[in-house]
Amino acid sequence: MSNRLSERINSVTPSATLEMAAKARELRASGKDIIGLSLGEPDFNTPDYIKEAAKQAINDDYNSYSPVDGYVELKDAIITKFKRDNDLNYEHAQIVVSTGAKQALYNVAQVVLNKGDEVILPCPYWVSYSDIVKLADGVPVEVPTSIESDFKMTANQLEAAITPKTKMLWYSSPCNPSGSIYGKDELRAMADVLQRHPQIVVVSDEIYEHINYGVTVHASMASFEGMFNRTVTVNGVAKAFAMTGWRIGYIGAPSYIARACNKLQGQVTSGANCIAQRAVITALLESPDRIQYMVDEFKERRKIILGLLNDIEGFQCNEPEGAFYVYPDVTAYFGKTLNGVTINNASDFAMYLLEHANVATVTGDAFGNGNCIRISYAASEKELREAVERIKGVL
Ligand code: PMP
Ligand code: GLU
Repeated sequence: MSNRLSERINSVTPSATLEMAAKARELRASGKDIIGLSLGEPDFNTPDYIKEAAKQAINDDYNSYSPVDGYVELKDAIITKFKRDNDLNYEHAQIVVSTGAKQALYNVAQVVLNKGDEVILPCPYWVSYSDIVKLADGVPVEVPTSIESDFKMTANQLEAAITPKTKMLWYSSPCNPSGSIYGKDELRAMADVLQRHPQIVVVSDEIYEHINYGVTVHASMASFEGMFNRTVTVNGVAKAFAMTGWRIGYIGAPSYIARACNKLQGQVTSGANCIAQRAVITALLESPDRIQYMVDEFKERRKIILGLLNDIEGFQCNEPEGAFYVYPDVTAYFGKTLNGVTINNASDFAMYLLEHANVATVTGDAFGNGNCIRISYAASEKELREAVERIKGVL
């Protein structure tokens, strides 16, 4: 059947995070007791004050198409947020609201990349980056990192990866899946390298900005000298505000890129959901202190899961500084046979945990680093403890 489809879609790998979550759902429906630690989704409900804003928007009859790039009042709120949290001064023409940060990222790749343009992706990177690049005919250039460098790319590695074809540097900080955060000095060193290569646009995915455990202060690439006019700052409400299903993300970008994203979106999806947009105005204008209780809870769970995983022989964990994932190196298991199953790589390992321990995780291959698996700790303490017990049991 696939020969009836486009080469474009045939070249795309399905999202490993969503695929694993679907597999876990299926197994659960067939009666298996699966603990799902595969999906990066807070197990909190959207805070009441945000839900109230959505109800108000319904009552106020917000039911028509919004402007393609978002309501002006939402752009005002985004501008206020960028100023308040990131010291960035965007104008309305530089903001585009999209259906999730995923669409925002997709738009940017589509409007910036030409066939063969290279995109530097420090590994591990979030699962969808490489396929979004490929869908725009770009070429992902993976820069490997390891647990020894806290899964961070150095300025020297960046310099070495740049070729005349490099069009983009693209990363998330805090990082999904490693939880690493680039500090100011590290970003400044990268910005210094980029000064010598003015053709490179930076995509800085800051969707986990507020989920920060206080070791490294969050910094935005666009705030460094010379970077504002060549950086796309991507953010969204899915993670920190527990609003994954509301589907709102946004960018602050050079206006030529924002205009192009607006044009693309106008032909593809039109404006994002109107009720969700109104709710996000409240989410962004209220103080981030109001969502701190979720961050505090994630911090507690991080401590628990790290303690438990470090107790398992063969698991080597870095200490994530943000987001809600652990990304243990499990190479110690490669080549071993457990319960008759030979583990050759991280995919075998994740599948073994799913089938034998009933615990869903995601293979590190999906994030461009095949030594690790990703475990989301956006789950209750009870589930985390039970999951690790089960994992221990089958290892
Ligand atoms: N960037 C990163 C790093 C993510 O983990 C995710 C996952 N949600 C996204 C972007 C996409 O976010 P959204 O749900 O707003 O589309
Ligand atoms: N970003 C989340 C994750 O990495 C949600 C799933 C997805 O959008 O891929 O698990």
